Amino acid sequence: MSIRPILIHPDPRLKKLCQPIESVSTDIGKLAEDMLETMYDAPGVGLAAPQVGVLKRLFVMDCVKEEGESPRPMALINPEIIATSDEVNTYEEGCLSIPEHYAEVTRPKRVTLRWLGLDGKTHEEEFDGLWATCAQHELDHLNGKLFIDHLGTIKRSMITRKMQKLKRDKARG
Ligand SMILES: [Zn+2]
Repeated sequence: MSIRPILIHPDPRLKKLCQPIESVSTDIGKLAEDMLETMYDAPGVGLAAPQVGVLKRLFVMDCVKEEGESPRPMALINPEIIATSDEVNTYEEGCLSIPEHYAEVTRPKRVTLRWLGLDGKTHEEEFDGLWATCAQHELDHLNGKLFIDHLGTIKRSMITRKMQKLKRDKARG
């Protein structure tokens, strides 16, 4: 396993529609393991393949937050939302590709997802609360959408300008 560098917004690769994965190969297994390691190291609760520069439909997440509860590392291949609740939830979201910026985003409170697991089988599960928010945030990444795209234009461009500056400062060292 190895930690992969996380792309920082703005980056054209974060705006692309990602392609479905045709088979659960050992390369995909390795990618998922690297992504989980990268996510835990960051630390974060979710990470999508385009954030490490791979334009494929895969994300990982683990929203277990309680001390003493065992982690639940999940890798979801070709995930689809098959149902959403009418009830919504507002969370202050952040993103490993947009460090140190947070904003409230309202999304359905519960979502049912169908995906292909690393075991090659189709899974289906309903997620609630933080898990549901995280799953929707990560799925957005696979469609080239960031959480700031849910915000108003002014807030979005303000964050983008700050990120551009951060990247320029970093490049200068
Ligand atoms: Zn994100």
